Amino acid sequence: MPSIAKDVTVGVIGAGTMGAGIAQVAAAAGHPVLLYDIAEGAAERGKQGIAKILARSVERGRIDTGERDATLGRITLAATLADMAPAGLVIEAVLEDLDVKRMLFGEVEGLVADDAILASNTSSLSITAIAAEFRRPERCVGMHFFNPAPILPLVEVVSGFKTDRAVAETVFATAEAWGKKPVHARSTPAFIVNRVARPFYGEGLRILGEGIADVPTVDAVITESGGFRMGPFTLLDLVGIDVNFAVTQSVYNAFFQDPRYQPSIIQREYVEAGLLGRKSGRGFYDYAEGAEKPAPRTAPTASRPEAVVIEGDLGIAEPLVGLIEAAGLPLYRDKQGSDVDPAIILDDVVLRLCDGRTATERDAEDVRELVLFDLALDYATCSRIAVAPADRAPDHAIAVAVGFFQALGKQVSVIDDGPGMIVTRTVCMLANEGADAVQKGVCDAAAVDTAMRMGVNYPQGPCAWADALGAGHVVTVLDNMARTYGEDRYRASPLLRRLAQSGRRFHG
Ligand code: NAD
Repeated sequence: MPSIAKDVTVGVIGAGTMGAGIAQVAAAAGHPVLLYDIAEGAAERGKQGIAKILARSVERGRIDTGERDATLGRITLAATLADMAPAGLVIEAVLEDLDVKRMLFGEVEGLVADDAILASNTSSLSITAIAAEFRRPERCVGMHFFNPAPILPLVEVVSGFKTDRAVAETVFATAEAWGKKPVHARSTPAFIVNRVARPFYGEGLRILGEGIADVPTVDAVITESGGFRMGPFTLLDLVGIDVNFAVTQSVYNAFFQDPRYQPSIIQREYVEAGLLGRKSGRGFYDYAEGAEKPAPRTAPTASRPEAVVIEGDLGIAEPLVGLIEAAGLPLYRDKQGSDVDPAIILDDVVLRLCDGRTATERDAEDVRELVLFDLALDYATCSRIAVAPADRAPDHAIAVAVGFFQALGKQVSVIDDGPGMIVTRTVCMLANEGADAVQKGVCDAAAVDTAMRMGVNYPQGPCAWADALGAGHVVTVLDNMARTYGEDRYRASPLLRRLAQSGRRFHG
């Protein structure tokens, strides 16, 4: 399906944060743009904002003055809604309110040609509900840009119950022609990104609530070990703890109180206390002038082990072998290829990869001292590893585990013995959420991965991550957590279970 032609006028309604950004994107792509806002002077301010951004792009050498002038020259301010009549694609970015959007489109539908496409930038409302009173609901589609629209590449193209596939394909091709990375999604609560991302915050808040690790340690482990750009608490402070809480509550209610999306009491406390993040000067971190950023828990230097024995195949953690060799530690491999539970043995201390059980639970299986280590995006390059000792493990066992990872060039965070540690539970829950979206026909696995990489900068798509870990491992982690917590929140997606059983993968 081709994109709309360059000479088709794009109407943008609402000239706030998103509307102005979308107008800039459409104009930069060569379309005549009509920009309208109901508030006096708002469209003008929107255009001035675009001019400022373009001026900065010129200063930075990203565009030349000719491009700047041409882009600005293509944006015309519409004095009334009736001026939208010539638009072939109308994108609304007004208040997030179903009645407002319905009323607006009711009027717009009477103004534009019958084949004009009407798109909503809503981040949470149902496209099916927005289109309910359309004369031609098949032309209503979601075109969900992310903030800032000129910079973030992702666009979720959302089809409601009656959206014509050709309309969704045209909008998809148009977003591509505008230099974006679109994905198709079916209109379901929170679409893809805002749904799949819930556990990123939810698990972080639970880890904090259960005293497994503190705020800076969770953030450090998620970034330095998990490879995410920001930890959950840094991100919550940036987005606004209240804004994120409102989204979480709305998703929770939209899914009829599914415990997977249950909001956090800690988060509510922060909102009630007015600690909203950066914008209020304090959230999970203190932004007052001179306030010191708390450091993550990092273990003091411990001695190198004298030798390392590896039992079995370390699987995802196998890159540790190269580091052990590079560190010059004598290495002996035992029981390779057999189905033993893989282990790194350092004299009387055993290190095992977290599988969702606590170290204390697994400890009962072995006479040696047990310390678990967390998942890392890439064991070869990560700079930090979290370890969790079993309750019975003496200080000496913790020091041995710390000394081992330090010898491999890692900083080590010793955390409390909670189910699923930090990165393991976060990544497995993200993969579970992605699998659930795929199974319920919201989108395909490629769309989940593109959406999470392009919309929120994840280092790896959750479905590709599940492939790398093995669906079986993800299911094991989730089953262990579900059993330990006794909560439906951790129920594994039947699709993940099926992949684990068949040995198939999301990709290839
Ligand atoms: P905003 O408050 O910055 O801008 C909204 C603009 O719409 C205002 O200028 C307001 O005057 C105007 N407006 C309100 N009612 C109108 C009407 N009936 N007709 C014309 N103009 C009207 O809001 P925003 O952050 O740009 O969000 C707009 C939409 O985009 C919402 O649906 C929001 O959910 C969605 N969205 C926001 C973000 C984000 O991060 N801000 C990201 C993706 C999607």
